[in-house]
Order: sequence, then structure tokens, then C-alpha cells
Amino acid sequence: MATTVKAYAAPSATDPLEATTIERRDVGADDVQIAIRYAGICHSDIHTVRGEWGKVPYPLTVGHEIVGEVTAVGSNVSKFQVGQRVGVGCMVNSCRECENCKAGEEQYCLKGEIGTYGSTDRDGTVTQGGYSESIVVDQDFVLNVPESIPYEAAAPLLCAGITTYSPLHHWNAGPGSKVAVVGLGGLGHMAVKIAHAMGAEVTVLSQSLKKQEDGLRLGADHYYATSDSDTFEHLAGTFDLIVNTVSSASLDFGGLLGLLKLDGTMVNVGAPGEPISLGIFNLFTNRRRLAGSKIGGIRETQEMLDFCAEHGIAADVEVISAEQINEAYERVLASDVRYRFVIDTSTL
Ligand code: NAP
Ligand code: ZN
Ligand code: ZN
Repeated sequence: MATTVKAYAAPSATDPLEATTIERRDVGADDVQIAIRYAGICHSDIHTVRGEWGKVPYPLTVGHEIVGEVTAVGSNVSKFQVGQRVGVGCMVNSCRECENCKAGEEQYCLKGEIGTYGSTDRDGTVTQGGYSESIVVDQDFVLNVPESIPYEAAAPLLCAGITTYSPLHHWNAGPGSKVAVVGLGGLGHMAVKIAHAMGAEVTVLSQSLKKQEDGLRLGADHYYATSDSDTFEHLAGTFDLIVNTVSSASLDFGGLLGLLKLDGTMVNVGAPGEPISLGIFNLFTNRRRLAGSKIGGIRETQEMLDFCAEHGIAADVEVISAEQINEAYERVLASDVRYRFVIDTSTL
């Protein structure tokens, strides 16, 4: 018998999200039941509910930046106890048998990872995300949230944190490397903090200089506006790594690639639904590489949370009530977020 819990859901691609209830399964032997305290609003939630990434099983409750407390555990659960501070990110299961799962890269599961929302779960039901009172998740996809990170500031680490930590780590951001972060939103502000903590020299490339003071406070060494064409001349051939967090495809990809030094890489974590436009000649010079990266594996997500605790970093958040979700979506779309909206789930 399932449990009925309060939630916010999108009824369609065009209607506002609204208060509703959803069902959570009973706690199975390997499950952890979590009372959700806060859930971050990721731009991916907006792409999803508006149908920009394809067909959506409406009504859908989104949210994959989840933190809360364990309220019950199944008989096989050894890693978690009732009362523990935990988190859930973008995945709630994977096959665990393919070579990518075995390598700890469950986000690239060859059979397809089960997303926290909008995926078909093992029992045939559609997974529902974190804009809700509670969730039941297999213990292998639950993270331990260090005590030193406040709950609300920890929630965005579960997606924005790992999605930027993983490529920065993979491409060896650190002392001596020059990293540019394109777009200072939810992912971008975490990329700046993490790259700075890793020891890299960090440059923000934003549409304007409106957020310059914030960017420097967050840990950037330099800040430039991409609306200024001098930026592209001045920074040509500068960076070892560019992390592109922009949610739109209407970006000067050729111009940005021109900012890479020999063997530099531009990694795209931004995920617009439309294809991008790029001339191949933009890649030839400096043997440039264009890459992509999707969230991170469970082991790496725990490593990121522990890294953030060790370096005293977490997200800059604006806590909102459930009834402000639709307004928050509009502000995210207007690049007016400083730097992550987080829903207080006690207001559902
Ligand atoms: P966000 O908070 O909206 O940040 C995106 C930033 O991009 C904005 O703050 C803005 O920064 C810049 N931007 C927006 N529109 C732009 C445009 N037309 N031209 C140039 N710059 C623009 O979004 P987010 O939550 O960080 O997510 C960013 C993207 O990453 C989304 O597409 C999301 O779906 C994707 N994502 C991917 C993964 C993954 O696994 N790869 C995980 C999570 C999210 P400035 O104002 O500074 O220019
Ligand atoms: Zn996300
Ligand atoms: Zn797999």
C-alpha cells in the first residue's frame, strides 16, 4: 500500500505548477524513506515541464536537488539510519551491471539510468521528484549530507554541485590551470566556487557585467561580458578549460572555442533542447576539443559533498515557499537568480 504525500506538479507544458498529492511506494528491503526538507529548482526542471526535452508523462512532479532526514529504512539497509541527513540527486537507480555502472558512472548506464522524475521505475510507475514532502529511494542512490553544510545550501549540490564538480575534476582543474565559466546561474556559481577551491584561476564569462561583484566574491579572479566583442579578442587562446553552463543554444560557440589554448577543452553542461550551430574550422586551430558531461556518478557525488564540506562551500540560495515556484521559474528564465531557488517543503 502506497503513501499519499503533498507535492507540486506540472499539469501540462503550458499550465502553471499546482499543489497536488502523489503516491510513494512502501519502504522495501533496500529502501530509504526520506522526509524532504528542501528541494532546489534546477533549470532542467523547467526544460522538462515545458516539454523542451521531449514527451512528458503529465502530471509530473519535478525536482532533483533533494535534502532531508531519513524516516525509515528497509531490512537490508546498512548505510543509513533514521534521523540521518541525506540527499538525492538526479538518479534513483541504474542497472548496476553494465561496464559504466561498474565503473561508478551510473549516469551513463548502458541500459539507461532511472531519473528521479519522469522515468519509468522498476515497478512500472513514473518516478516523481523532490517538490514533495517525502521520497523512497534505493539506499545505493542516497547520499550522506555532511553536518557542516546547512540543509538549504546543500540541496543544489545534488545537481548543480556534481554537474560542475565532475567535469572540473575530470579535466584536472587545479593550480596552474585557467578555467572559464560561461553563465553565472545555478550551475555557473557552483562551478566558480568549486574551480576556485580546486586552485584554478577562474574567469566568469557572463552576458553582462551586472553580476561582476558577486562573481568576484564567489571566487572568480576575472569577469568579462560576452556582449562586449573586445572580450573575445582580449581572451583569445587563454583557457585550458571552458565550462559552458548556458541553458540556451543561441550562443557564439565559435567565439568561445577561440578562447581555448592548445589542446584546451570546452565542456558543455548546459542542455538546451535545440541543436547548436558550429563551424568545424572553429575546432581545428589549437587542436581544440568540444565535450559534454552529464551530472556525475554516486561515488563522485559523495566525493563532491565531502569536498564542499572540507572547503566550506555550498550554494548561495533564495529560499521560497511552494506557491512562489511559478514566479521563481520566470525569474530563472530571465537570468534573475542569485543563485539558486530552493523550496521549503514545509510550505507545500
Ligand atoms: P540557470 O540558473 O538559468 O543559469 C544559466 C545561465 O546561463 C544564466 O544565469 C545566464 O547567465 C546564462 N544564460 C541564460 N540564457 C542565456 C542566453 N540566451 N545567452 C547567453 N547566456 C545565457 O540554469 P542552471 O540551472 O544553472 O542550468 C543551466 C543549464 O544546465 C540548463 O540547460 C540545464 O538544463 C543544464 N543542466 C545540465 C546538467 C547536466 O548534467 N549536464 C545538469 C543540470 C543542469 P549570465 O546571466 O551570467 O549570462
Ligand atoms: Zn539539475
Ligand atoms: Zn548500467
